[in-house]
Amino acid sequence: MPYVAVSGQKPPIVDEMGERRWRAILAARPDLEPAIALQRHLLTLVRELDATLAAGKLPRLSLPPKYLAAKLGRGVPVFAAEPIPLPIPAMTPVLVRLCDALATGGAGDAAAHIRESITSGQMDAGSLFAATFARNQGAIRSGATHRGLAPDLVWLVGELAVGPFVHRLQQTILADATDTALRAALDGWDRGYCPACGSWPALAEVVGGHRTMRCSFCSSAWEPTRYACIYCGESGAKFVTAAPNEERKDRRVEVCSNCSGYVKTVDLAELSPFPLLSISDIETTDLDIAAMEHGFARPTLKDFGHTKGQKA
Ligand SMILES: [Zn+2]
Ligand SMILES: [Zn+2]
Repeated sequence: MPYVAVSGQKPPIVDEMGERRWRAILAARPDLEPAIALQRHLLTLVRELDATLAAGKLPRLSLPPKYLAAKLGRGVPVFAAEPIPLPIPAMTPVLVRLCDALATGGAGDAAAHIRESITSGQMDAGSLFAATFARNQGAIRSGATHRGLAPDLVWLVGELAVGPFVHRLQQTILADATDTALRAALDGWDRGYCPACGSWPALAEVVGGHRTMRCSFCSSAWEPTRYACIYCGESGAKFVTAAPNEERKDRRVEVCSNCSGYVKTVDLAELSPFPLLSISDIETTDLDIAAMEHGFARPTLKDFGHTKGQKA
């Protein structure tokens, strides 16, 4: 599943593309207006953080390309178990504002409690970011439950706040890679999970017949070489692609009755630049519902071993 570099777009172009897509969703589904207003607000905050990070510098990293190539060769994502310093001072205020947006946008007290927990210091923002980066869902879940917070919401705000950094890191280390061994390892990537961070794809974006997986966390892109289940490799009769809506063959779900996994597939004119992938995800929630109604689910994150000392 070769890694695909998604070309970056200038901020005004991304904003324009986002506007166009939000308008199209609203025209088709005016009833989703409140939910879309919230999502747009969240995306605006993510874009602001991305702009802040763009003005700064990425941390100096000791990740030799040959070491990363060897890691990928073993099926281990490049960020797994790497103690990479995170820009906590830039991310923390955005984390608080994300909670505010969710509190006023429908999540109410559950989001307000998370905000309170962060601003009072009861929950350490830096630890949450570290556990999010390490994809340590277990630590976040138990940390949230321990504090009486909604685990899914804590996970969501953590992902949104760390997303811009992890995307920049992925672009710098993988998309801009020039080392021959690392490029070969990326071209040979044949797993269903992200070569950068190890997450499962949010969905597959199909552009010009290229079925491209898009990472739910860092927005990386990779194209499977085989038409098979991305979770278990099933390619026989148990692996099926179906369009729940007969009139919308451009929106499909790949389902596998071998492992009960599913992945959404949508035809698009171009791959979504960061952070617009979340729009593709939101505009296909009906596909998630259709798949789940038939007993399919997205598997839990793979565990590549978490970095020591990084607990939420
Ligand atoms: Zn990723
Ligand atoms: Zn499967």
